[in-house]
Amino acid sequence: MCGLGQTAPNPVLNMIRNFREEFEEHIKNRHCRAGVCADLFISPCQNACPAGVNVPGYLALIAAGRVRDAYNLVRKENPFPAVCGRVCTHPCESKCRRGQLDEPLSIADLKRYVADTMLKNEEPYMDLVFPKRGKSVAIIGAGPSGLTCGYYLARLGYDADVYESKPVAGGILTLGIPEYRLPKKVLQQEIKLIEQVGVKIHLNHEVGKDITFDQLRTGHDALYVATGTQFSHKIGIPGENLQGVYNGLQFLCDVNLGKKFPIGKKVAVIGGGNTAIDAARVAIRLGAEEVTILYRRLQEDMPADWREIRDAIDEGVQVIPLIAPVKFVGNDSVTAIECLRMELGEFDASGRRKPIAAPGSEFRIITDMVISAVSQYSDLPFIDKDEVELTRWGTFVTDRDTMMTNMKGVFAGGDVVRGSDVAITAIADGKKAASAIDKYLGGQGVLNTGEEIEIPGSSDEKEIIEHERFPMKFLDPNIRKNNFEEVCSGFHKLNAIAESMRCLRCDRRV
Ligand SMILES: Cc1cc2nc3c(=O)[nH]c(=O)nc-3n(C[C@H](O)[C@H](O)[C@H](O)COP(=O)(O)OP(=O)(O)OC[C@H]3O[C@@H](n4cnc5c(N)ncnc54)[C@H](O)[C@@H]3O)c2cc1C
Ligand code: SF4
Ligand code: SF4
Repeated sequence: MCGLGQTAPNPVLNMIRNFREEFEEHIKNRHCRAGVCADLFISPCQNACPAGVNVPGYLALIAAGRVRDAYNLVRKENPFPAVCGRVCTHPCESKCRRGQLDEPLSIADLKRYVADTMLKNEEPYMDLVFPKRGKSVAIIGAGPSGLTCGYYLARLGYDADVYESKPVAGGILTLGIPEYRLPKKVLQQEIKLIEQVGVKIHLNHEVGKDITFDQLRTGHDALYVATGTQFSHKIGIPGENLQGVYNGLQFLCDVNLGKKFPIGKKVAVIGGGNTAIDAARVAIRLGAEEVTILYRRLQEDMPADWREIRDAIDEGVQVIPLIAPVKFVGNDSVTAIECLRMELGEFDASGRRKPIAAPGSEFRIITDMVISAVSQYSDLPFIDKDEVELTRWGTFVTDRDTMMTNMKGVFAGGDVVRGSDVAITAIADGKKAASAIDKYLGGQGVLNTGEEIEIPGSSDEKEIIEHERFPMKFLDPNIRKNNFEEVCSGFHKLNAIAESMRCLRCDRRV
């Protein structure tokens, strides 16, 4: 064969084919039953999404200009597309096959694009709701987990009553995450759509104070506890009670609820997670002259998203790694932090090198405000601790499949079970719990996710052009650090369509 007229082999198509062949081989060898095989035949991105969002499906719908269908397809699995489009940690993107060619798809940003387009147009949006079943479920906590559970239960025809201690719904999405990352208006629009299917949110109802846990148990057929991790650990060093030493989550919560208080000129933030980065960026916006994050490991070991760290640094936040505070100094108010320099020892269980204090390395950092953001934990003051099985971290022990605690009819999920985690796992838990509660109450455990949506196919002929992600617009750091305006303005239509066309459609047989 001379090879004349043959087309050059396409490495990307070969890569996808190999992946599919592997899968088909697996299905053949294991004699998978019909239906199960189809479920297995999903793209790596969808597989990596805790809520199972059909990613290639909604990307194909964007490429076809069918934004409303794309939005509906996402909402089948996740009632918070605009929220997740902004703050999801997007595990889907790290599994995106396109990453092997140039860059993973901007899966989260494209979700934001469809949600923003729909919410901006304010077109009437109505989810399909089944007739009433005459049974009710009480949900404790109006965070993403509780609201998602209520949403799917209400759509199945249950009365879903959510009890929330704060004057506003949304949990950490409202109280913790600052406006410049997630505008309150956007979040409240999505919560309104959840209420629209019949979920009743009772604000200012703290369970254990305004209403008892037993009242909820006797008044409802089942309970879902989704109270998150509301309590902050102390660092455990002298001087923590001095004036000017704040707790990170409380600081963010106060700012989000509009409380006014004096901001220091030289602010030191202690910690390396989301709360620390958000607190530092908020302090800059509130007028602090100098904001420094002190972290005991290396900057690359910080658990916060690297993009958030980069954005904070662009806004003028300084990160000092390998430092541990040992004492807050001052008479009434904090004036300095006594610190030790750290050196790196052996690798620990987290896969990072353990920080060890360097002898004789004590020094002081002058400051007039400290925000300590080390970690959060859950507590369940409204439950008799002798009655319920808890882990040693205070989180619920639940059955992996049914999500039920050792108390009959009491289910739990989100951060109160996992410990501090992320929004998408809390959402996925809420959804799974709705299905488990339905089963417990005599249903099939099949959620009502509305009508099927036809998804455009893909063809082998599709030309694959190497191209990195299409850009989005960001506010200039020197401008945005003076206000709470949203930092990223998202995709415009042309770039969204072009970006979605980069998808390789790993969900299709070729
Ligand atoms: C500062 C910060 C930034 C974060 N940033 C991100 C991010 O960018 N991306 C991401 O994916 N995740 C982020 N997270 C984590 C994410 O917000 C949480 O994992 C998620 O909100 C957990 O959801 P949940 O529903 O389990 O609990 P929560 O969101 O904590 O909601 C629990 C709700 O229960 C209520 N409640 C508690 N006790 C009672 C009671 N006794 N009676 C009635 N109501 C009660 C609380 O007031 C709260 O509204 C962040 C967390 C923090 C702290
Ligand atoms: S919800 Fe998060 S994990 Fe799921 S597809 Fe969207 S960005 Fe990815
Ligand atoms: S290329 Fe498309 S289908 Fe494949 S993993 Fe990435 S987003 Fe998913």
